[in-house]
Amino acid sequence: MESFNTGVSASRDYLKDKKRIVVKVGSSSITHAQTGRMNLEKIEKLVRVLSNLANLGKEVILVSSGAISVGSKALGMDRKPSEKAQKQACAAVGQANLMMVYQKLFAEYQHTVAQILLTKYTMIESESRHNAENTFNELMRMGVIPIVNENDTVATDEIEFGDNDTLSAIVAALVKADLLILLSDIEGLYTDDPHKNSNAQFIDTVEYITDEIIAMGKGATSAVGTGGMNTKISAARIANDSGTDMVIASSEDLSVVSRIISGEKIGTLFKAHLNENFHLIDYLSNNYNGSQK
Ligand code: GLU
Repeated sequence: MESFNTGVSASRDYLKDKKRIVVKVGSSSITHAQTGRMNLEKIEKLVRVLSNLANLGKEVILVSSGAISVGSKALGMDRKPSEKAQKQACAAVGQANLMMVYQKLFAEYQHTVAQILLTKYTMIESESRHNAENTFNELMRMGVIPIVNENDTVATDEIEFGDNDTLSAIVAALVKADLLILLSDIEGLYTDDPHKNSNAQFIDTVEYITDEIIAMGKGATSAVGTGGMNTKISAARIANDSGTDMVIASSEDLSVVSRIISGEKIGTLFKAHLNENFHLIDYLSNNYNGSQK
């Protein structure tokens, strides 16, 4: 399929120098589509790739979804619950299950992990936001790999991020990450839904998030996770405005993470344009419209 870019610079060599990297995996990336249970082979691969990045001297933060999906299966449900209290209960069980597996696998590669569960309220309230920022920085200094999720067990509709695409962009902005990589069952941005339109073109670089780009994101959705392309473009806005480059790529083969960081053209790159007036709090209290046209 033909691809094009809306940017001027096609080379991604500069991604090699990125130091602080946030990687987000969607529920669909780490669970089996048939059963919703953990895909241990994929989780193992993810852990190996991220451990290797840490060994290379990168600072790695993992934002992992999957708590509700894994928890609902552990509790014998045949589908993800829609009722709030059930979701919260499933998240409480699934988050613990996920962390146990992550901790075991990272330990095999001599890496220590930490669990950070956030709600929108943690980020709105300035004292808790600063505490979260300090904790991240201290963990990075200690060489620990933070594993982040929304605190689904206590988040209610009014205070939830709702999807981990947004959460991961907020984390990237909070820690001033150099790069955010969103991995899901979507391989990047197309001019139209490729399942419906065989003429849809793949976009490898987005220089600016224009109205046209936003319109392109409206079609595609993920079967398992909460976020579709729409939420990924909103995430890109937060990341780019806060000075963080962002790449959306398919999680089918998780070695893409190291290949993206070595400058290979994989997925769609949204380029950072630091907006001096960007404050996380503006995004969190209003509906952020971004600085880009
Ligand atoms: N926090 C949710 C979970 O762990 C996932 C949210 C999302 O899919 O973006 O189940």
